[in-house]
Amino acid sequence: MSRIFDDDAPFALGTRAVHAGQRPDPTTGAIMVPLYQTSTYAQEGIGRNKGYEYARGKNPTREALERNVASLEGGTHGFAFGSGMGALDSVMKLFKSGDHFVCAENMYGGTPRLFDRILVNFGLQFSYVDCRDPQRIADAITPATRAVIVETPTNPLMRLTDLGAAAGIAHRAGALLIVDNTFATPVFQRPFEHGADIVYHSSTKYLNGHSDMVGGIVIVRDDTLAERLQFILNAAGAVPGPMDAWLVLRGTKTLHLRMAAHDANGRKVAAWLSNRLGAERVFYPGLESHPQHELACRQMAGFGGMVSVDVGTRDKAERLTGALRVFTLAESLGGVESLVCHPATMTHASVPEERRARIGIGDGLVRFSVGVEDASDLLADLEGAFRGV
Ligand SMILES: *Cc1c(COP(=O)(O)O)cnc(C)c1O
Repeated sequence: MSRIFDDDAPFALGTRAVHAGQRPDPTTGAIMVPLYQTSTYAQEGIGRNKGYEYARGKNPTREALERNVASLEGGTHGFAFGSGMGALDSVMKLFKSGDHFVCAENMYGGTPRLFDRILVNFGLQFSYVDCRDPQRIADAITPATRAVIVETPTNPLMRLTDLGAAAGIAHRAGALLIVDNTFATPVFQRPFEHGADIVYHSSTKYLNGHSDMVGGIVIVRDDTLAERLQFILNAAGAVPGPMDAWLVLRGTKTLHLRMAAHDANGRKVAAWLSNRLGAERVFYPGLESHPQHELACRQMAGFGGMVSVDVGTRDKAERLTGALRVFTLAESLGGVESLVCHPATMTHASVPEERRARIGIGDGLVRFSVGVEDASDLLADLEGAFRGV
């Protein structure tokens, strides 16, 4: 558990991205937080140590990352985990058998897999609703509801939840609002400002930004929740290694710069696709044609680099993805390099076909993670690939 430095408070986001949670190494003055690649720490005497006993509980490299991301989100405590799913699994250990959760029906495919195939066996109960309409969240609340869990924008359909409305509904029911902020990142959306209680990320994606590790992070701003999460983190132990924490910390230093570049390219790619295919086939909250564009403008400071399109059939999706030369066909997202994926067979293959069809993840859906390459090359790549479709 790492409290952010008070002297971070007055600084703007880009300054905090570079500096928050870090200070020169007290031993050498090294400007970068060292990689504390250690499992344990020498103790001065029995019952006397420097606050570090065993690296499952605490590691200084990991703590620097936790303070940094907590500062960016406007939270007070961060907890790093070995993956985004590991982070969410540890969050769910705050709850107990019989507790009920209202969840967005369109989330990252691994999230309902964790809930419906593992956590239900421990007596947790989940209802899935279309969170675009806050009334549906309210209607699904029961006396046993302990949290509303949403992702906004959603993967891969780019649907939005009104976070302020969701927080109000959750809090009136005595429940928490838990938000997966992986897609927007704190550069474009800070859920705590809208009333969220717990924010989590797959740090594998934009926070790290270079596709070279897997990780997760949870941020809170309540001391009691923080104490319980620190206990779970240490007791259940889903922690990242120091090298992976160090890589994310290197990534967050340029988060604001990268997000601006993803956003600029994302807008261009979405506009190009919209011209080519018709606005109704392109899912990007930055397009005026997006049904929740007005909410996006209110809730987000930018729209990022995730764009999905419906090309109609699996055959067309196959020809398109096969013809791209700059976009690489791969799962994952949020790296500097442009990727393309076919959600129905890749990221959302674990979602039952019937649910996929109901929420709109068809065989013709293609998702782009627009990187930070030169936009002219990305558009030329799309032009070339679509010519053959
Ligand atoms: C990737 C992803 C996750 C899962 O994170 P991992 O680091 O892969 O375990 C959760 N939510 C969203 C939105 C994601 O994109």
